Amino acid sequence: MKIVTTVEGVREQVKAWRKEGKTVGLVPTMGYLHEGHKSLIDRAVKENDEVVVSVFVNPMQFGPTEDLDSYPRDLAADAKLCEAAGASIIFHPEPEEMYKDGFCSFVDMSGLTNALCGLSRPVHFRGVCTVVTKLFNIVTPDRAYFGEKDAQQLAVVKRMVRDLNMPLEIVGCPIIREADGLAKSSRNTYLPPEARQQALVLSKSIFLGKKMVEDGERDPEKVKQAMREVINTAPLADIDYVEIVDVNTMKSVDVIKGEILCAIAVKMGSYARLIDNFMMTV
Ligand code: AMP
Repeated sequence: MKIVTTVEGVREQVKAWRKEGKTVGLVPTMGYLHEGHKSLIDRAVKENDEVVVSVFVNPMQFGPTEDLDSYPRDLAADAKLCEAAGASIIFHPEPEEMYKDGFCSFVDMSGLTNALCGLSRPVHFRGVCTVVTKLFNIVTPDRAYFGEKDAQQLAVVKRMVRDLNMPLEIVGCPIIREADGLAKSSRNTYLPPEARQQALVLSKSIFLGKKMVEDGERDPEKVKQAMREVINTAPLADIDYVEIVDVNTMKSVDVIKGEILCAIAVKMGSYARLIDNFMMTV
């Protein structure tokens, strides 16, 4: 398995694969790979002849006060995981390779991004849409794999592909969790033991909310209130949002009905901002 650092290098490789009539899958990541990323790579390896994993901590999707500099990085470990999972190449460009001097073109979206994480992270989805579009143009994959862990991102990317007629399929993959329930995330490494323990309130509240809806609760306020109470039992937890939205519009629902996304974002002290969710068709 090769690590390719240039756009040109990826293009040459993909061209050679295409000559042999091969299909190509893409798994975009920011690296520091874990079992959640691996589940996307495994699926991509199953469904495509060749798989490109991009490892790029995209500066454009971080706000000025966010964790761009401290974001964990370990390319050697990432390469091991990708190789063992059967990926063909890692695309690992420097920011200067992706954003040449004078870069000034962006892909942006309205509506779906004016909710949930888009409210507390105003530049985030523009950065995501722009880098994902670039990756699609560089790799020209048949399929690209995204985790439901980032449910709003998945919805945004699916909509962008539909709206802009991008010629590929977007595949959503389920959330992979730690044994105790916490959704796997590269940012979990920021948590010292006490905060890691308290972070369990995220998954606990998600499981409770899901159970309430499964048991027939249709009032979003009741579900959100019960979830907030669980989260607030952790002294370090500071709720950014607990929302139940229509997955197609990202607008809050008055009644739990149709395709809904219940999503939360919680700051654990000053250590990390964590997200979790469940999606359901009611
Ligand atoms: P990231 O490196 O955090 O940008 O994530 C890269 C991709 O992996 C995104 O599509 C994420 O949604 C997905 N991902 C991250 N964590 C998980 C998880 N615990 N389960 C499933 N997918 C995940």
